[in-house]
Amino acid sequence: MPISQQTYLNLPPELYQLQEPQPVSDPKMVIWNHSLGEEWGLGEDVALFAGNAVPASLTPLAQAYAGHQFGHFTMLGDGRAVLLGEAEKGGGERVDVQLKGSGRTRYSRGGDGRAALEPMLREYLISEAMHALGIPTTRSLCVVSTGEKVYREEVLPGAILTRLASSHLRVGTFEFAAGFRPPEELSALLRYAMDRHDPACETGADFFQGVIDRQASLVAKWMAVGFVHGVMNTDNVAISGETIDYGPCAFMDRYDPETVFSSIDQQGRYAYGNQPQITHWNLAVLASALLPLFDEEEEAAEAIARECLDRFPQIFRAVWQKEMNEKLGLSSLQVGDDQLVGDLLNRMHEGQMDYTNTFRDLHPEHPLTGLEDWHQEWVKRLAGEEGVMGRMQAHNPAVIPRNQQVEAALHAAGEGEMSHFHSLLDLLKDPYNRKQDFGELAVTPPKDAPAYKTFCGT
Ligand code: AMP
Ligand code: MG
Repeated sequence: MPISQQTYLNLPPELYQLQEPQPVSDPKMVIWNHSLGEEWGLGEDVALFAGNAVPASLTPLAQAYAGHQFGHFTMLGDGRAVLLGEAEKGGGERVDVQLKGSGRTRYSRGGDGRAALEPMLREYLISEAMHALGIPTTRSLCVVSTGEKVYREEVLPGAILTRLASSHLRVGTFEFAAGFRPPEELSALLRYAMDRHDPACETGADFFQGVIDRQASLVAKWMAVGFVHGVMNTDNVAISGETIDYGPCAFMDRYDPETVFSSIDQQGRYAYGNQPQITHWNLAVLASALLPLFDEEEEAAEAIARECLDRFPQIFRAVWQKEMNEKLGLSSLQVGDDQLVGDLLNRMHEGQMDYTNTFRDLHPEHPLTGLEDWHQEWVKRLAGEEGVMGRMQAHNPAVIPRNQQVEAALHAAGEGEMSHFHSLLDLLKDPYNRKQDFGELAVTPPKDAPAYKTFCGT
């Protein structure tokens, strides 16, 4: 059996609930990720990934966690997911195998524990697109339709997504564990997280610094490709630094830092341009949870937390600037580069230019309309650089998941027609290939197109 019992069972039982997935009536494999299955030695098994046939060697569980949702603390937990077990590769690399949409758990609150087909396919598509873009993310192994209906605003076909994650530990998992005194659950969780993600770490502060580095790098990468996560609640922030929980996320078309897609984010808390600041805020929540493990003395613990947190803006800035410089073909950082990047973004904003296509089309020999004077500055800065075009092509995708095409493919899939979904997925697997004809997918929507909105669609 390539899936083994999860190590999470070694943690104090307050942190989870044993929970079998609830069987479904008529499971069918809608999409199976062949290369990912091969990578982890997992075979296409409908009954297993529907939750209908769990081997006796496995002990599925739902994880407990809390979280700050739009700034407010809430008790949560896997309300519609179970950890089936873990898969391992040569070299000891390990992933959690989780079913999402597998039925009610102790943490379901009012929910039915189920998921609808389109949102699960959406997670599959966008997570695989993110992976192809080179951004750390949970992966999608398969989507199985259940043959059952789920009741939302309308009646929808049900489905279960199997995802692989280097772990499902969230900032919110630590917030939950921090609720116990003395902090035994919390220290057990910290030890577990260190073993899994940072075996070289010796102290809670080292571990926290590692999380800060990973999150800074992740959000810088999101910013570089115009990704808007949409619901950066602390329960949706993975300690591993992988993008997790694809709900209302989407990619920005025309550059605007205030871009918000989620229909429930009315204040724009999770707008594109706020993402670094929100990450900093989420890390402060993690710091408060970890405080008792930094030092027994409260003041000393707070000083450690502050010192680590205060480094975040600088760390983020450095990674972001490097990402942006590479998009401009620059191999190193120099004084004045932030101005060059800032000027470009301002012009893109004023001119309502498409973020992806502008970077894609930059060329030292051909100034783009509206960027003529900026172009001169850029070309001056390029003097003496080698490998400019190669660097630019490796950092500026020719294509991103465009919202209209994603919607159309999901809609067709909802009606049982998967061919659009497959062709879209194929194109998104090779986003840096300039030789590919991406057709409509490479086109900016017209300026007067209605604003695109996403729904959590749970
Ligand atoms: P999300 O918005 O997907 O991050 O979910 C927030 C919380 O709601 C998590 O604890 C989920 O497990 C839970 N949840 C979302 N949808 C459902 C559902 N249909 N049934 C039960 N719990 C759910
Ligand atoms: Mg979530």
